[in-house]
Amino acid sequence: MTAASTPILLAGDWTPGAGPALRIEDPVDGSLVGTVNEASLDQVDAAVRAGARAVDESGWHRRPPHRRADVLYQAARLIVERAETLADLQTAENGKTLKESRGQATAAAGIVRYFAAVCETMEGAVPPPRGDYLAVTTHEPFGVVAAMTPWNSPLTMGAQKLAPALAAGNAVVLKPSELTTLVSLELARAFADAGLPAGLLSVLPGGRGVGEALVTHPGVGMVSFTGGTATGRAIAAAAAPRFLPVVLELGGKSPNVVFADADLDAAARGVASAIFGSGGQSCVAGSRLFVQRPVYDQVVQRVVAAGAALRVGPARDPNSDIGPMASFAQRERVEGYVDLARGEGGRVLLGGARPDDPALAGGAYYLPTVIDGLDHESRVCQEEIFGGVLVALPFDGEDDLVALADDTVYGLACGLWTRDLAKAWRVARRVKAGTVWINTYKELSIASPFGGFKDSGLGREKGLQGLRAYQQTKSIYLGGLEG
Ligand code: NAD
Repeated sequence: MTAASTPILLAGDWTPGAGPALRIEDPVDGSLVGTVNEASLDQVDAAVRAGARAVDESGWHRRPPHRRADVLYQAARLIVERAETLADLQTAENGKTLKESRGQATAAAGIVRYFAAVCETMEGAVPPPRGDYLAVTTHEPFGVVAAMTPWNSPLTMGAQKLAPALAAGNAVVLKPSELTTLVSLELARAFADAGLPAGLLSVLPGGRGVGEALVTHPGVGMVSFTGGTATGRAIAAAAAPRFLPVVLELGGKSPNVVFADADLDAAARGVASAIFGSGGQSCVAGSRLFVQRPVYDQVVQRVVAAGAALRVGPARDPNSDIGPMASFAQRERVEGYVDLARGEGGRVLLGGARPDDPALAGGAYYLPTVIDGLDHESRVCQEEIFGGVLVALPFDGEDDLVALADDTVYGLACGLWTRDLAKAWRVARRVKAGTVWINTYKELSIASPFGGFKDSGLGREKGLQGLRAYQQTKSIYLGGLEG
């Protein structure tokens, strides 16, 4: 079956991509969702130039903030109106369950609304003068922002970049993941239809080549990237010669810690959903389970039982808790790590295989998996798998735990389960992670800054800082006021 190539958003027009064709597959059965042609390098150049022109000529960043906010509020309304279409497309492209995609479509609208509100309420600063002048601190856009997003949550990740970057007065050129291009184009359509000046937003399908061309384009003023740590490092290196500011939201290998005094049932449920939700394809997935030794066996058994109770099935089936992996390639990667764990002496306590239901044989399915018996130095304990694979390890005391929790290159998130809130607070302050959850996991508010320590990233998205990340600060001194 062939399908007409989906147009891309380039400089205010919906037009065919001039690069090679991308075939987008539904991981439920490998069927064709659609095709789109990648942007050519000339189109990358045209998008950046159009963005720069739109910033200069449309007066977007000089518009009063409540007028910029009007456009964003309208985009949020359109996302709500189109939520079902957006959710359906995201599910088709990356296999997330439809109920999760619906939640994310609504969340994307909430993100856009939040940044509209921040845009019109954010205050500046007038520092107390230390001489005969008035000093004012202003915040100005970078010009054209290059934004790159991964495939796991394109609706929320896309909204999280487009809304603050535009609210801050910039133009944006978005390069979504090759796997989730169609939903990213539809998200952008809501902004375009909301009355954003033409040229201010372009969406360029493609892979690494398009991304590299974008980051190294001399017209780009700032880079905002969410994806893997290795890619983030390459982007930071490409941005360095021009001192381009970068926001990098990268990978993780987050610890989820159960102390002996925790509510063990709640902890086991929380641990299971922290790793198996979205099939583990979440940057904050709680992929390393540390259990205090006296309760180790009982907690691991309960987590295994909670994982076994999850229903793996078609993404559109309301009874499915977990859909297929986002791609067959991602399943192969997960399988490779489980083989490695077996080779490293790990015991597979749950899963470690594709489901044996013949009805699921054509999709990229993989069962929730729990492994123990590995050394913490093993690759499976150290490397991000990005799938529903949990490694379990015992610990003894607080110092031992903090050392283990911090013993990877990552520092994105950490979960703590205990009834002793003083201990929770102590450990929360000690661990090197950008987000810590106590007796909960994966609560993510757009109002709270989000980002990583160590190799999990640089800079913060969300919250008030999430808008300021897209602005540069200027101090203006006005003298001669006394006479
Ligand atoms: P990836 O790094 O392979 O790709 C991310 C994006 O970068 C894609 O759009 C890709 O085409 C593009 N890209 C690849 N090479 C590039 C280059 N040299 N220059 C510019 N762009 C380039 O990541 P992925 O496989 O799509 O997503 C999974 C990763 O994303 C995981 O590591 C996950 O932890 C991470 N992630 C992080 C967060 C966070 O907020 N910290 C959120 C979601 C996902």
